[in-house]
Amino acid sequence: MDVAIIGDGPGGLSAAIFLAKNGLSTVVYGQEKTAMHWALLKNYLGIPEITGTDFQKIARDQVATFGARIENQLVESVAGEGGAFRITFAGGATASARYLILSEGKSPKLAQQLGVRFDGPVAVTDKNGLTSVPAVYAVGRLARPGRSQAIISAGDGAVVALAILSKEKGQDVVDWDSPPKT
Ligand SMILES: Cc1cc2nc3c(=O)[nH]c(=O)nc-3n(C[C@H](O)[C@H](O)[C@H](O)COP(=O)(O)OP(=O)(O)OC[C@H]3O[C@@H](n4cnc5c(N)ncnc54)[C@H](O)[C@@H]3O)c2cc1C
Repeated sequence: MDVAIIGDGPGGLSAAIFLAKNGLSTVVYGQEKTAMHWALLKNYLGIPEITGTDFQKIARDQVATFGARIENQLVESVAGEGGAFRITFAGGATASARYLILSEGKSPKLAQQLGVRFDGPVAVTDKNGLTSVPAVYAVGRLARPGRSQAIISAGDGAVVALAILSKEKGQDVVDWDSPPKT
């Protein structure tokens, strides 16, 4: 696959929409254990109020609409292997991806495993979400543990997706749609 996204909260799901909509084969790994299931959102721009659980349901359906897969998997380990990444699941199965997006939320296990640079509890990234490890991006709560908000995670997901799409295309990419002309 082109992009493996580890974490199925708003950060990971948002990245998946942009990537799949623009033609990259994308899989999100997670087990629906996001902190969103404890949230009642009143501060997500454009949505006056929604439970985190309802938000997740809409978001997961939207991801599927654009052709990304969401797999109910716990990722046990990740490692670089010949210019790609090998992803190993609890149970022993493996997958391979060219890019990794880590949206692990509060538990930075995989980022630490990969040797991503941390500043205290914060996975350090550049403004495009790229970590110190080439082709490994970090979004959301992982990169901003003390300031975690759903809309920021979703925004981070969009940022890294456009960074990857732009890298692939060799020029800046935007994902804009317009209503049909009447
Ligand atoms: C009680 C409570 C109330 C909140 N209220 C609000 C609010 O009102 N407004 C607001 O904006 N935010 C609120 N939040 C915060 C909001 O839930 C987070 O900002 C948001 O969930 C962060 O999204 P994320 O995608 O960065 O990470 P998360 O949502 O934490 O998602 C990370 C996902 O990755 C999965 N994962 C981690 N490691 C692996 C692995 N190895 N393999 C597979 N999957 C893995 C986790 O299980 C999880 O599903 C609240 C949080 C709580 C706890």
